[in-house]
Amino acid sequence: MNRGAFTEALAERLFHARREGGQVALFVIDLDRFKHLNDTLGHHAGDLLLAEVGERLRWAAAPGELMARLGGDEFAVISPVADVGRRAQELVTALSQPHDIYGRQIAPGASVGVAVFPQDAADASDLQRYADMALYRVKTGGGRRWSAFDAELRAESERRRTLEAELRRAIPAGEIEPWFQPVVDAADGRIVGVEVLARWRHPEQGLLAPGAFVPIAEELGLIGRIDEAVFEAACARAAPWVAEGLIEHVSCNVSPRDLLDPAFSRKLIRRLGQTALSATALCVEITETFLLQDLALSRRHIERLAAKGVNIALDDFGTGYSNLRALMHLPIQTVKLDRSLIADVAKDARVSRLVGSMLHAARALGVSIVAEGVEDPAQAIFLRAAGCDRMQGYLFDRPMPADALETRLRAVAAEASPRVAPARRRARA
Ligand SMILES: [Mg+2]
Repeated sequence: MNRGAFTEALAERLFHARREGGQVALFVIDLDRFKHLNDTLGHHAGDLLLAEVGERLRWAAAPGELMARLGGDEFAVISPVADVGRRAQELVTALSQPHDIYGRQIAPGASVGVAVFPQDAADASDLQRYADMALYRVKTGGGRRWSAFDAELRAESERRRTLEAELRRAIPAGEIEPWFQPVVDAADGRIVGVEVLARWRHPEQGLLAPGAFVPIAEELGLIGRIDEAVFEAACARAAPWVAEGLIEHVSCNVSPRDLLDPAFSRKLIRRLGQTALSATALCVEITETFLLQDLALSRRHIERLAAKGVNIALDDFGTGYSNLRALMHLPIQTVKLDRSLIADVAKDARVSRLVGSMLHAARALGVSIVAEGVEDPAQAIFLRAAGCDRMQGYLFDRPMPADALETRLRAVAAEASPRVAPARRRARA
């Protein structure tokens, strides 16, 4: 049974329960270590394991229960049982027994979240949402348990609803603003560019980082409008800095969701045209995951932007497949080495060799490298010696509001000797 058929079946069960005064429990189940097992044992073993789990669930079904695989390693059970806690524990136990996969005993472990109609939720979509929230709480607590939707989760759900409403209001109100994190030249430490990062100046909660609102904005389909607002405001502030030679480039992040829009690059070029920022000063950061999601579409966007002179950077490089082929075949000028690699670069000899060879490969392809998340001098020393071009991180500067950055940039420019500044400007012209 697929997700669509399952949602229909759930609605039907609720319809009958509503008429006859019954209750319906929805259990959602997630295997704890499926991704790890799939990665280490291979997709065949993974598929076999999922089939086994499905089989075991059907076998464990109580009278009147309906089982479904919702996709990936996610399963669900619609149940009329009265003792929800006992049933949840039975499911956890049943799925925690080892499976025999190619002669190996594999115990992936399972987490279960449950919500009940009518006491928790009045309709199918809330019931699913609440069961998912309960499951999520188990997962973040380490898994191998079950959890039921309760007062704590209800409070969290209300907080989320409030946040949703506030977010819809915040965008037109201009509460989402661009902050800027300096990117420095690895050789001499001078600020050569900025990465634009969104901050929400919430009227009551103060300043919120993207982690607090971007996931919700993505779910609500508001991320495009946020990116647009931040992009426009950032260009307006940063264009004069570029024009005066205070910085060379402005980097903007693009969410994978935006990139799925086939018209994305055309819209971006049009919006850029309405700002005072020149195309060659703009850098668009695209995550590697998106390249893998839809190579044809990313190629179209990247080529269209590059043709206008916009720089393309591959963000979070080193977390995914580190696709060197993409660097060879697409007009990508910059790679941003992920902070997770940089964190260990001066501590772990294997990581430093890996980063060293990545820098070497990127140089061979004519791609420039920015190291992200540089936090201590040892990292900077290693990266500089290994030929990294630019760096960004707390060692140099945290993200800051436009006014603070402008003050800094002007102070640096005023400090620079009058003989050096014009020479630099000429060199760039
Ligand atoms: Mg980025």
